[in-house]
Amino acid sequence: MEGKLLSADGLRVMIGKEEPVRASSFSIDYGEAKALIGESGSGKSMTALALIALLPEHAAAEGRIAYRGTEIDASDTKRLSALRGREIAMMSQDPSSSLNPAYRIGKQIRRIAAIGGAEDPRMEAERLLEAAGLGGAGRKYPHQLSGGMCQRALLAMALAASPSLLIADEVTSSLDSDTERSAMELILTMMGERALSLLMISHSIALAASYADSIAVMHGGCTVEEGPAAEVLRHPAHPYTELLAACAAMKRDPDGTLVTIGGRMPSPAEKVPGCTFAGRCPYAERRCMDGMPAWRSNGSHRWRCIHG
Ligand code: SF4
Repeated sequence: MEGKLLSADGLRVMIGKEEPVRASSFSIDYGEAKALIGESGSGKSMTALALIALLPEHAAAEGRIAYRGTEIDASDTKRLSALRGREIAMMSQDPSSSLNPAYRIGKQIRRIAAIGGAEDPRMEAERLLEAAGLGGAGRKYPHQLSGGMCQRALLAMALAASPSLLIADEVTSSLDSDTERSAMELILTMMGERALSLLMISHSIALAASYADSIAVMHGGCTVEEGPAAEVLRHPAHPYTELLAACAAMKRDPDGTLVTIGGRMPSPAEKVPGCTFAGRCPYAERRCMDGMPAWRSNGSHRWRCIHG
């Protein structure tokens, strides 16, 4: 199927006077693995929570979300929460917050499969556990599984309601590199088998380079660049993406020191009149603070900077 499964445009999240998401805009195609990357505090997780109306109490969202071509106002928590589970499932970085220690793994997956309308929830749970490399582990409790096995059980649970989009929020950040690779390969295999799209939230540009079809980069609550992964990584157009890529590649300045991103990201409490990267950007000019830079584009690759 062609077209966008989901798109967000001008998404904002406010918590009191703070604005952890100022302008998040990106889209996910059917069957696509999209990476949403940026440093901690850039607004990635808050963006994901807004998509399924799981924001903290007292938070409010604004902006436009389109799902399967239907527009939903980001403040419409009733319609967005209806997407949760059967349409959009979320895997968090902490298995202990999603797996109930009091119940066997199989039972927890069966329950979700039943809610998702599976004809035979028991069979579906066994099939998912088998596919996740956990055949026979259905009678185990979460504490009897390793970290990697818990992530696999979480994936089986997230997919039990047959969602169309899986949001995976830093799900491999606590895993060693071998377990991370096997968890990501399992997710990609499941995507192929189940016509699933993926929104992979990560601070790691290397993870995005290995597994994503396309990338959206966030800084200070704003999406600053979006495009096909190969294009964004080979020809980053936004200075923030350029520096992220240089840091990941351990590039060095002419004086031999490792490239770093200086300064700090504006906090959600700060008012930022223009580009959120201006305080850290080596190319900043006075006009960068004359309002948020408009999108520039080159085909499907777009970025928010006065240059390019
Ligand atoms: S708009 Fe200005 S401050 Fe922002 S990334 Fe571009 S050059 Fe840097």
